[in-house]
Amino acid sequence: MFATLSDRLTSTFKNLRNKGRLSEADIDATVRQIRRALLDADVAVPVVREFTGRVRERALSAEVSGALNPAQQVVKIVNDELISILGGSARPLSFAKVPPTVIMLAGLQGAGKTTLAGKLALHLREQGHTPLLVAADLQRPNAVTQLSVVGERAGVPVYAPHPGVASELEVPTGDPVQVAIDGVAEARAKVHDVVIIDTAGRLGVDGELMAQAADIRAATNPDEVLFVIDAMIGQDAVTTAKAFLDGVDFTGVVLSKLDGDARGGAALSVASVTGRPIMFASTGEQLRDFEAFYPDRMASRILD
Ligand code: GDP
Repeated sequence: MFATLSDRLTSTFKNLRNKGRLSEADIDATVRQIRRALLDADVAVPVVREFTGRVRERALSAEVSGALNPAQQVVKIVNDELISILGGSARPLSFAKVPPTVIMLAGLQGAGKTTLAGKLALHLREQGHTPLLVAADLQRPNAVTQLSVVGERAGVPVYAPHPGVASELEVPTGDPVQVAIDGVAEARAKVHDVVIIDTAGRLGVDGELMAQAADIRAATNPDEVLFVIDAMIGQDAVTTAKAFLDGVDFTGVVLSKLDGDARGGAALSVASVTGRPIMFASTGEQLRDFEAFYPDRMASRILD
């Protein structure tokens, strides 16, 4: 992910390397190259505009003195601004004062929610928590079965409406809102300190999906609502994220499929467009392909 963007930015900086001082024309040419690199990587247009505006302004007013030469100064400015659009500092999960902490997952079908549920459950279990997974996705035929498999791999129990759904084609019946409520009650009764609620997605944003997710949110009053977004969906990421922000509201973002080779810039837009922090990254299909998201580390990776 971000390999092309990374290469483009690096070669832009290379052009500045031997310059003793940057003229306004040099800075404008550099900013133009950065703009093109970001747009080609699918970063949302308003984010690119703001980003390049700030880089230009700061580069023009940068002091020539100091330990950094002009090229290094531009790299530092771009690095700072990348960190800023990625949300600034890392934001860890917030836990309820009185357990259980309720974490709800939301996002489109195929975004990677169920996979993420398992990864997060394993991550929390290894930190000494006692999570419970709740299968409130009753839309997709095999979603409950899939979550049960993921839970088993993670060594984390799963609360499901019909635990023994026999066929992969059998759509579990029941009310997902009630399943979520019952799941939280189950966690309280069995003394699980965290509940992770997997919810249904659709292939596209639709009103019924939003209403259901909003109902689950209202009924379970989660401490965190994590919006899971496929980093490979390109410019659609921004509209999808905004729709979920309006329809459900969320407290944090999880970027999934960051291992893909797509341009990925949309992922760079989500935090600044929604004002919500990116908290985790999913980087593969296996349970351990998961990491906490650090804006500064991601920026260094891009500029490496
Ligand atoms: P859901 O519909 O949102 O629950 O999505 P799933 O968790 O079922 O994931 C959809 C597909 O994406 C599955 O085939 C997953 O194996 C795959 N997937 C999920 N996360 C990742 C990831 O980080 N990287 C890759 N390469 N594939 C992923």
